[in-house]
Amino acid sequence: MSDLLSIKGIGPKLKTKLNRNDIYDCFDIINRFPSRYEVYRLTTLKDAPEGSRVTLEGKVASSAIVNYIRKNFNRLSFDLMIEDRNFKVAIFNRDYLRNVLTVGEDIVVTGNIDRIKNTFTATTLKLKKNFKNEIEPIYNIDGVGDAQFQKLVQLSLKEYGHLIKDELPISLIKKYRLITYSELLNIVHSPVSSKDLIKIERRIKYEELFKFQMKMQYLKLKNKSKKSLIKKYDINLVKEFIKSLPFVLTSDQKKATNEIIKDIKSPYVMNRLLEGDTGSGKTVVSAISILTVLSAGFQVAMMAPTEILAKQHYETFKEYFKNYDYKIVYLSGKLTNKERFDRLEIIANNPQTLIIGTHALFSNDVRYNNLGYVITDEQHRFGVNQRKKLKEKGFNPDVLYMTATPIPRTLAISLFGDMDISIIKERPKNRIKVDTKLFKSSEMDLIYLLIDEQLKNNHQVYVVTPLILESETLDLSNAQKVYRELSDKFSDYYVGMLHSKISQEDKEHVMDLFKKNEINILVSTTVIEVGVDVANATLMVVLNSDRFGLSQLHQLRGRIGRSNIKSYCLLVYNDSSESKGRLEILEKTDDGFKLSEEDLKIRGPGDFFGLRQSGELRFSKASIVEDAHILEIARDDALEILSNKDSYRNNEYRLLFNYLKGVLRKANLD
Ligand code: ADP
Ligand code: MG
Repeated sequence: MSDLLSIKGIGPKLKTKLNRNDIYDCFDIINRFPSRYEVYRLTTLKDAPEGSRVTLEGKVASSAIVNYIRKNFNRLSFDLMIEDRNFKVAIFNRDYLRNVLTVGEDIVVTGNIDRIKNTFTATTLKLKKNFKNEIEPIYNIDGVGDAQFQKLVQLSLKEYGHLIKDELPISLIKKYRLITYSELLNIVHSPVSSKDLIKIERRIKYEELFKFQMKMQYLKLKNKSKKSLIKKYDINLVKEFIKSLPFVLTSDQKKATNEIIKDIKSPYVMNRLLEGDTGSGKTVVSAISILTVLSAGFQVAMMAPTEILAKQHYETFKEYFKNYDYKIVYLSGKLTNKERFDRLEIIANNPQTLIIGTHALFSNDVRYNNLGYVITDEQHRFGVNQRKKLKEKGFNPDVLYMTATPIPRTLAISLFGDMDISIIKERPKNRIKVDTKLFKSSEMDLIYLLIDEQLKNNHQVYVVTPLILESETLDLSNAQKVYRELSDKFSDYYVGMLHSKISQEDKEHVMDLFKKNEINILVSTTVIEVGVDVANATLMVVLNSDRFGLSQLHQLRGRIGRSNIKSYCLLVYNDSSESKGRLEILEKTDDGFKLSEEDLKIRGPGDFFGLRQSGELRFSKASIVEDAHILEIARDDALEILSNKDSYRNNEYRLLFNYLKGVLRKANLD
């Protein structure tokens, strides 16, 4: 009955257009809020800030000239007296206004002012007599103009507006003095004052973040109530293992270990994220937890995103567990049929086995035997479904995700709101800080000298070339060029190269040679980012470092300084680059969390979104960075409602729970 065609003015053609914009009935029209508002508020020169959009009035002081720059692109320019100053106004693609603008006409322009050059770049231009202070909703609906859409909104509101109910509980609306949904609908499509805009924003932001938290906290509570199998582990064996380590655990490592083991012991499923900088000692912590589960008679699967990393974990754990009888199996897509068959046999028949590998771990033919614990390393590289598949190979196994990307707390609680988090901040004490220095790209000669110096001491060097996202071919040719240059310059040494186009076999071969110091300089794109551990490498040169995020550079830098030999990281940036200030932070600190906070401040949360491959963090008004305080109160509010049994029968929350059911069904999570 709320069919689009029930509205006067919507015919089949408009209906199709609306459908293409995900609008299927009149409620969709009503609930499609403006993506932003254009505010035209007349101001004076004195109050007009430079560098942001302003609206000013003035008198046209010259006839207009049009320059046709290229096809479909022209510039109209004329003199405008604003108060007592003359400005050169330019506006693009308005050649048709030429004849309207007669000298002496009073007009209103909106755009950017430059007082030094006495110019004004306008985006909107109106005759004074047609102008009123106004707030114009901008909808960005493909194929439907804002004015037309607004008409549809008004018609739909009149017809169906009264049927819309508020999903936010009234107690929360009162608590934060928000406007109700019907009040919101009254003003969101046609606000008249900046007060309205504030009311709209507060309501929408809170609602978005609160609903998001309802979902996350619901999932978290649900996970926590899921039973896992009881794991009776051998505490003495675990203690002995910790004692046998060649070092003492840091207090953060101890804390994380305790948190994980407590989860393993509990009759409920673990769903935990272990966060810590490269080299902070996560792997050891995971080793302790693996041993705990093995000793309880269960299998453990550990999944890594690349073969190099999986292989390295395999070697590491073989070494850690060399004094134990537990089987350790490596599984990847690259095995021969016979190898694969043999290993699958072992997995199927031995409950106390550690299986390490790539996503081959969740292939259909892998049959686990009592899989009790699943660890995913650098989990953001796997899709949600991949992780889920592995989890489903066991009966409610405990799950640990590990990541070396230090995620700022504010982001972590939103990205991973449905998980518990253990953080290792403190590093082992014996580490020597990597010296980081900035160099201009014109200073390459100096860099060659520094490379030479390291090579003469029989140390090894990484040279990292940026990943050129726009083009894989460019990426490759870039690496190849650097490779040729270095091979020329250092003809007495062996130079190797790694990039994303090299086959896995060749990659491993190159890595192997580098590990054995048979390659002295390794030119590489960011494929070395994770998983390479060569203690003799003491110098890293990052070319075009301004193309990287701080956290990413920090992770790259984690590849060196892995022994007690002093190591250096040289960041080469473009002479003209503005990113110098940003990169300088790396010279000063090696705190990964601090750096990711900086990244977040400078580049916004966009870079972190890849961490969770889903659109669930796309809010229309709220920002998880700027509105972190709302996110936190919304979380508490959601938790309070969800953890009170009576809430589920309380009529006040009925619509809210309906909403929750809907999103869970849609996300296929229930
Ligand atoms: P991550 O997995 O976080 O990168 P690892 O667990 O691989 O870190 O640890 C990096 C290196 O530091 C390893 O060689 C490990 O043996 C060593 N290490 C770990 N914890 C400590 C510690 N508490 N004290 C000294 N060395 C440690
Ligand atoms: Mg458990």
